[in-house]
Amino acid sequence: MAKLQVGSAVTPSGVVRGATIEMQDGRIVRIEPGAGSGAGWAVPGFVDTHCHGAVGVSFGTPDKEANRRAIAYHRSQGTTTLFASTVTEPIEKLETQLAVLRDLVADGELDGIHLEGPFLAEARKGAHDVALLRDPTPDLVERLIEAGGPALKMITLAVERAHGEAATRRFTEAGVKVAFGHSDADDVVTARSIDWGACVAPHVFSAMRSIHHRDPGPVPVLLSDDRVLCELICDGIHHKAPITRMSIDAAGCDRIALVTDAMSAAGQGDGRYLLGELDVEVRDGIARLVTSDGSLGAIAGSTLTMARAFEFVVLEVGCSIPEAALMAATTPARWHGLSEVGTLEVGKRADVCVVDDTGRLQEVWRRGERVA
Ligand SMILES: [Zn+2]
Repeated sequence: MAKLQVGSAVTPSGVVRGATIEMQDGRIVRIEPGAGSGAGWAVPGFVDTHCHGAVGVSFGTPDKEANRRAIAYHRSQGTTTLFASTVTEPIEKLETQLAVLRDLVADGELDGIHLEGPFLAEARKGAHDVALLRDPTPDLVERLIEAGGPALKMITLAVERAHGEAATRRFTEAGVKVAFGHSDADDVVTARSIDWGACVAPHVFSAMRSIHHRDPGPVPVLLSDDRVLCELICDGIHHKAPITRMSIDAAGCDRIALVTDAMSAAGQGDGRYLLGELDVEVRDGIARLVTSDGSLGAIAGSTLTMARAFEFVVLEVGCSIPEAALMAATTPARWHGLSEVGTLEVGKRADVCVVDDTGRLQEVWRRGERVA
């Protein structure tokens, strides 16, 4: 039995002051108000559903131990529930990566897999290899559903590609959430794809048309439709704080998920990296593609951690700790049907982050054990 004493605990029924949280066999068994003498805030362990790797490792690499090192890094930064994201690769290679990641889901190290690509738009490819982009034909869709099995939770695709509607419907029917992203669709096609089943918007603003008052594009549709979960990369680089504020006000904390979109440089520092088949250079923590003439191109994921994203929305965006906890844990857990996590409640997994009044991470507990 472990006991955690905090100044405040964020629970579904409100903030519990002076809380003592008791954990046994990996679960929360009691949350007692009043008796706790500690400082800080207990919030549910963070849920990151879009993350490509860390410490020099890209998720899906054939070395299982290397994958575990990347998972451990993110865990030390507060991520107690994690989806591993892939990037665009040949289908055979994706099948191999899915097999590796499925094992890690079965081991309880990961909580799901997110395929980002290969069915993306050339015009919005971001840091994906254009030569490997393709249409979601029925045979390829079935291969990926088969290779991912129940561990495959989400796929980002450009809904306007040939077979986009059939693929969206088929993945949805197979229990794989379709994420509208890396798409060149306008507002009309975006709205239509939500009717087909698309229900997540990866990194809103990035790799999609920009908002314009006479040519709205996807952003206002995604932020205002109650059927869509909007991911935000809150590193202050992908979008500035006022845009983050506007997005949270538009969609509400019940439809926003903080994600890292971290690539292998997270936790590792500046230098040269490989993202899928492409070279990336990280300078001052900003990852960019290296173009053919050697100059730096598109932003290529991030080096963000959930701890920093949490702190950013508290310090730079002005969110309260309970609001940040919704976006960092409760909302993504609920949206993805992860019923064991996402809230501090008796019976749930004892996954707890402790932060101070400024949102800075102090402690991480996972399944009742202190991990950082
Ligand atoms: Zn992306």
